[in-house]
Amino acid sequence: MTDCLFCRIVAGEIPSTVVHETATTLAFRDIRPQASSHVLVIPKAHYADVAELAVADPGLAGEVLAAVAAVAEAEGLLKGGFRTIFNTGEHGGQEVAHVHAHVVGGAPLGPMLA
Ligand code: IMP
Repeated sequence: MTDCLFCRIVAGEIPSTVVHETATTLAFRDIRPQASSHVLVIPKAHYADVAELAVADPGLAGEVLAAVAAVAEAEGLLKGGFRTIFNTGEHGGQEVAHVHAHVVGGAPLGPMLA
């Protein structure tokens, strides 16, 4: 039994609203959405952040990005555009230490650092 929240979502121990799944990735709705479409995309395997993932398994990092694109298409975001964010570490505001891409969109988002 892991104490990683997102590993527990992958294991089905905590419910989530899944919007896309592959053998190696899972995408589910953020519990506190910041836009009309706000989905988190994660590798099922545990890596703390995007820097650790990219070094340890660049192929899996690519699969996460492919899942981001699939989610954007499924959410109808390709025409209007969307934003992908990997918060990383303390200064990046990362709260959950299992790498995740925020995919947000559905309306104009404004400047990134506003
Ligand atoms: P971070 O700040 O980049 O680590 O983002 C973590 C995100 O996880 C936040 O946007 C939270 O709203 C989201 N979150 C926390 N717990 C859950 C959950 O149980 N299901 C879905 N999203 C969650």
